[in-house]
Amino acid sequence: MPAKGDMMKLCKIKALNKNERMSTQELLQTIYAKIDKGYTDFEIEALGQHDIAGAVFTKNQKKNLNFKITNPGQRVGAMALDGTNIVVEGSAPADVGWLNSGATITVKKDAGDTASHCAAGGKIYIGGRVGTRSGALMKHDPKFEPPEFWVLKNTGSFSFEFMGGGSAIICGYECENLNSVLGNRSCVGMVGGTIYFRGNVSGLASCVEIVKLNKKDMEFLKEGMKDFLKHIEREDLYSKLTKFSQWKKIVPNTNKEKDKKISLQEFVQKEWFKGGLFGDLVEDDGEVYSLAQCNERRLRIPKWDKKLCINCSLCLNNCPQKAIKKEGKKYYSEDNLCIGCSICAAVCPKKAWSMENQIL
Ligand code: SF4
Ligand code: SF4
Repeated sequence: MPAKGDMMKLCKIKALNKNERMSTQELLQTIYAKIDKGYTDFEIEALGQHDIAGAVFTKNQKKNLNFKITNPGQRVGAMALDGTNIVVEGSAPADVGWLNSGATITVKKDAGDTASHCAAGGKIYIGGRVGTRSGALMKHDPKFEPPEFWVLKNTGSFSFEFMGGGSAIICGYECENLNSVLGNRSCVGMVGGTIYFRGNVSGLASCVEIVKLNKKDMEFLKEGMKDFLKHIEREDLYSKLTKFSQWKKIVPNTNKEKDKKISLQEFVQKEWFKGGLFGDLVEDDGEVYSLAQCNERRLRIPKWDKKLCINCSLCLNNCPQKAIKKEGKKYYSEDNLCIGCSICAAVCPKKAWSMENQIL
């Protein structure tokens, strides 16, 4: 455990060591070693090293860690834990706070694509814009406080895809001329959470609806806005950004979705991306195959070796598909029933079944 006198010891790291750039691994291992020595505060001049200040895996990890970082690479604060406070001076590239698990992460200027992607807890504050797919797959585990994702300006397209929980607050500051502060094709597959926005939006997926704020929403925004603006050092904007007549929120329209009952194939082809995900490159019919497949779509095919078999019938009795048949002392599996699960190979005491990999 760290000594008491070391509690707030500051560690400064320059990722350029005698004209040699530290690798990401070197930098992360240096940080972990310092944490084990009781350091809790870090100032890191990075050179694009990734995963800085993400989940810290050391046996002596302190609960509260503070990072001030310049010039980080991707995934700054990825999977970062409760008690971690991260401030990026300037901008950061993609994946800021990916799967944030409780940290407070501030980027003073812009963040790249997929900021707050998969975030499950904590708060992410962005003092500029964020790129495409930001906020996608945000979620809320009811055992923890829901994640919050605050952005001063706007997001790129495809933001908040498959969002399942938490709150996103897009302030639309200096975005008055944009058609949409959420880019295009936002909220596809959104099933939970709330997106508060100020300014225009267009091109939203049909599974969501825009509604007016209620009193609780306004209270939430009023309180949260103070903290947000303090973190990005723009407290001067408080009164401008709390005129709630300029705000609305987006929530999933689950009833409408239920009524629609479209197939997954239709969803993939028509709702998510018209023409399919790679429709501009290859023809994509959007067909979705179930995980368990028979015949030529199996990943593995069982082969039986009669020389090894002792005719115990264990395979026959354990095949979940009843695909194994017996003719006299000969065993075989029927291609149109077998799903390649390998149970026959696992139960056979003589290894008489082997699984042959299929290249699809
Ligand atoms: S691979 Fe699975 S499904 Fe196929 S024959 Fe063996 S046990 Fe049955
Ligand atoms: S489990 Fe193995 S030894 Fe037993 S019948 Fe099946 S293939 Fe033969």
